Parts: sequence; C-alpha cells; structure tokens
Amino acid sequence: MKIQYVECGCCGHFHLPEFFGDCRDNANRFNHMQLDEKHGSKGWDYLSEEDQLQAEESDQ
Ligand SMILES: [Zn+2]
Repeated sequence: MKIQYVECGCCGHFHLPEFFGDCRDNANRFNHMQLDEKHGSKGWDYLSEEDQLQAEESDQ
C-alpha cells in the first residue's frame, strides 16, 4: 500500500495527513525528491490541492 501525503497549499510541500503543525517544521514537510528517496517513486501517493477541494465539496 502506498503511503499517503497531502499537498500543502500553504508551503507547497507535502505533509502527512495527520500533520497539522507548523509548515516551517522541516522534519514534517517533504518535497517530491525527498519522498522518492524515502519511499521510492512508487511507494507514495498524495492528495493534490484540487483533490482536497473536491473531497470537501462532495462532503456537503
Ligand atoms: Zn505546509
């Protein structure tokens, strides 16, 4: 199973879904390259900002 991240509209990096901390927390924000190194390019997936907006809309 792929590890899921969310694209952050605030800092443009990726965070884990359970992370709601400070975007400046370097230990908890990642870019594409870091995640490829960590999990392999096929080992992770992310929700784009658009996906997140659509998910919110379909909740209502
Ligand atoms: Zn962020």
